[in-house]
Amino acid sequence: KEYQALRKSLEIPVVSPPLPPVESTTRDETVIHLAANIENPEQVELMLRHRLEGIGLFRTEFLALSADTIPGEEEQYAVYRRVIEEAAGRRVVIRTFDIGADKQNPNIYRDRGQNPALGVRGIRRHLICCPDELRVQLRAILRAAENGEVGILLPMVTTVEDIRRVKRHLEIARKELRREKKPFSPKIALGAMIEIPAAAFAAGEILKEVNFVSVGTNDLLQYFLAADRDNPELVEYGENPSPGFLSLMRLIIEQATAQGRQNDVAICGEMAANPSALPALIRLGYRSFSVSPILAPAVRAAAAATHLDQASPAIVRIRRSSP
Ligand code: PEP
Ligand code: MG
Repeated sequence: KEYQALRKSLEIPVVSPPLPPVESTTRDETVIHLAANIENPEQVELMLRHRLEGIGLFRTEFLALSADTIPGEEEQYAVYRRVIEEAAGRRVVIRTFDIGADKQNPNIYRDRGQNPALGVRGIRRHLICCPDELRVQLRAILRAAENGEVGILLPMVTTVEDIRRVKRHLEIARKELRREKKPFSPKIALGAMIEIPAAAFAAGEILKEVNFVSVGTNDLLQYFLAADRDNPELVEYGENPSPGFLSLMRLIIEQATAQGRQNDVAICGEMAANPSALPALIRLGYRSFSVSPILAPAVRAAAAATHLDQASPAIVRIRRSSP
């Protein structure tokens, strides 16, 4: 009896490997790719449980917003490494800190402008005020990505020049790591969030500088409507996408398609999980979405009910067609 009790206490729990991702399709069998938005390493498990294709957006700023200071390179490295390892070989997109506006920590952020949402936030903050902090984060991601399929996603990109500046920092980070003989990923992908109208209009140019783009409809809608995303009195403006907003969304996917790059475009804003918006986005040509993992079943159901041939809502043309 004693022996049995001892055996039981030494037993190693059987950890079964995660089930493979499940393909989502529309009613007419068009494949839709679904990934997860996460904010901390614990949520990787939700991505696996919902059988999604990977992490489409890891909002790393939550590491910094809950702390008094920005975590150092080793601390960040440990977190990214854990997420990549636990994602079981699936693709992981890590976004650099999007600090500012609605994501504030008074200990580490002070924007002097009157309009924080229009201020020094996301990649602007890194480039304007703290390039060293950006470099530490890039180093941590490059190192953690050594054996994984990983993308670095830049938030609040306004111009192509923002990306070129980040690339210079990436090059310096790589050089430093080489010199220090620290292993890192040689083939990490670079991506840009399209969440500022100026970037939406320049999506074609931006795509030429990066490997992929992800449309952040939460901010894109806020800037398109000039309506604070967190103001409860303005919620109804953003509830259902207007024909005008869908035209902007079409402009993005059309620029990508014109270069044969439609597969390098995803949507990671909450609109992707809105069952009344998803069919319109699919009909515009979007095939890749990253959503809160707990909403995955509802998103799959909305995709499954979508038929590509159904009439789309009227969309206003933004670009002038040829006379
Ligand atoms: C977005 O803006 O749509 C987005 C996905 O990023 P966040 O909500 O973190 O600003
Ligand atoms: Mg955003």
